[in-house]
Amino acid sequence: MTERNVPLRAVRIEPKCPTCGKPADPKYKPFCRKRCADIDLGRWLKEGYRVPTDEVPDEDETETRSSGEGGGASGQRG
Ligand SMILES: [Zn+2]
Repeated sequence: MTERNVPLRAVRIEPKCPTCGKPADPKYKPFCRKRCADIDLGRWLKEGYRVPTDEVPDEDETETRSSGEGGGASGQRG
């Protein structure tokens, strides 16, 4: 007769609040409270949605402009 003593350890994966790490509340799953949900949502919105701006990136053109040089090749036969 072999008796096995199986440890009854209920491994429950409880959702933790991604904002603060506290056990989530079923009411505000997967967050622990509304505040945390708002924080996470706001963070997500910031990263997800980018407000299109009409601003143009400052780019300094370092191009050497040669003025006065005209390339006029005239071929005359004579
Ligand atoms: Zn939280």
